[in-house]
Amino acid sequence: MAAHQEKKGEERHRQSTQNGTRTSQVQWGRAWEVDWFSLASIIFLLMFAPLIVYYFIMSCDQYQCSLIDPVIDLLTGNEHLSDIWNKTPTLTYKAAGIYTLWVAFQVVLYVCVPDFCHKFLPGYVGGVQEGAVTPAGVVNKYEINGLQAWIITHVLWFANAYCFHCFSPTIIFDNWIPLLWCANILGYAVSTFAMIKGYFFPTNAKDCKFTGNFFYDYMMGIEFNPRIGKWFDFKLFFNGRPGIVAWTLINLSYAAKQQELYGQVTNSMILVNVLQGIYVLDFFWNEAWYLKTIDICHDHFGWYLGWGDCVWLPYLYTLQGLYLVYHPVQLCTANAIGILMLGLIGYYIFRMTNHQKDLFRRTNGNCKIWGKKPEYIECSYMSVDGTKYYSKLMTSGFWGWARHFNYTGDLMGSLAYCLTCGFDHILPYFYIIYMTILLTHRCVRDEHRCFSKYGKDWKRYTAAVPYRLIPGIF
Ligand code: NDP
Repeated sequence: MAAHQEKKGEERHRQSTQNGTRTSQVQWGRAWEVDWFSLASIIFLLMFAPLIVYYFIMSCDQYQCSLIDPVIDLLTGNEHLSDIWNKTPTLTYKAAGIYTLWVAFQVVLYVCVPDFCHKFLPGYVGGVQEGAVTPAGVVNKYEINGLQAWIITHVLWFANAYCFHCFSPTIIFDNWIPLLWCANILGYAVSTFAMIKGYFFPTNAKDCKFTGNFFYDYMMGIEFNPRIGKWFDFKLFFNGRPGIVAWTLINLSYAAKQQELYGQVTNSMILVNVLQGIYVLDFFWNEAWYLKTIDICHDHFGWYLGWGDCVWLPYLYTLQGLYLVYHPVQLCTANAIGILMLGLIGYYIFRMTNHQKDLFRRTNGNCKIWGKKPEYIECSYMSVDGTKYYSKLMTSGFWGWARHFNYTGDLMGSLAYCLTCGFDHILPYFYIIYMTILLTHRCVRDEHRCFSKYGKDWKRYTAAVPYRLIPGIF
């Protein structure tokens, strides 16, 4: 929006070079050409990501969360693949019913219940909000009501757990693998639908990208902002709900299972619920701000987001809680406090860094960062129709320490979740390993995009702020 506001209306001219680099105006956003490494990674992920999720969940179900034991069993001939598969719960009508109701309920909350939270929560930005300007120069409107959906869902969850008893609070854990099949069906269905829609009835044809490579287009998406009707936005819906609303419910279900199995909920489980709960609530409190993050304002909607939000996120981001059902860890007070502090400091850095950029962009630099007027680098870029826009890259506050200090805070928080599980197994550490790869790759991806977008202005910025994640090191 800030960039949009900065549009100097009269300055419209088409050109194929900008900012001293030979970049086409339409290069920022997802790639147009596919290099062999990207293609190989994509085919690998399409083939193996569903298997990775299955392997992790099956390891907990059949091997007490050991990632090594299934391999040893297979190599020594103790078990055959078919034995493992035969012991895996299948899709059930019950799970299909639960999942359908769950997704339908979230659709209703998203589409039919306009936000009222912004009317009484001071500082909360909800209701109809504008997204960032797209490469085609479009500014979409979104109904921001995720916090409301989260609150309603959780109030109903607790009302059921403590008053109505219509279903057990362990329902998610008890149906975890059958629900995995349902999530996969939805993930593949929505990605396939998005691909077909991109070809035959796109919401905005100018914001579609076709590389000509089927696998790349399926994975990374064709349409930038696919929608059904005026308000059902695929990216906003699948990014936030059903995956992120479910995240805290899944953790609550794990806590309920611990209570059922062991008669108590361990402090490690409480820590996971609290720290991840803060992260999820932060997401919904700042949903309008997320419209300006890479997922919403740069990525196209394909399998990466569609399947990823339905399957990868709810199943792999919640591994710590799942692990703690099988291995209830009671931390000593010092360790629990240390982990809590790490999680809270990480969260503080994550939020403050994001807040500084948001404030800076919203006020067009007319604000104070750490008590001083922020320093910045002026830059310009061009949209698909040749309109020239101006923007600013801040070099003050956390953005002067490193170019992605928000990721550093995120990684500290992620490490805290994993540490709650102790050191007996590698499985709960998947999250920090994955987040380190994801966010490091994102640094590279984002910087490549920013360079395409801002050209030599971006180079001036990287000279002023030379480190990516850890000042003085990387
Ligand atoms: P950022 O919020 O860091 O946004 C990057 C964009 O900000 C750039 O593309 C550029 O966009 C702009 N920008 C870059 N440097 C500056 C600067 N110095 N001053 C002003 N603007 C700048 O990245 P993400 O969208 O990836 O992440 C948002 C948050 O979400 C992060 O905190 C991240 O940790 C978190 N996250 C969490 C994930 C999870 O799975 N848990 C996954 C991904 C992200 P522009 O074109 O506008 O200039």
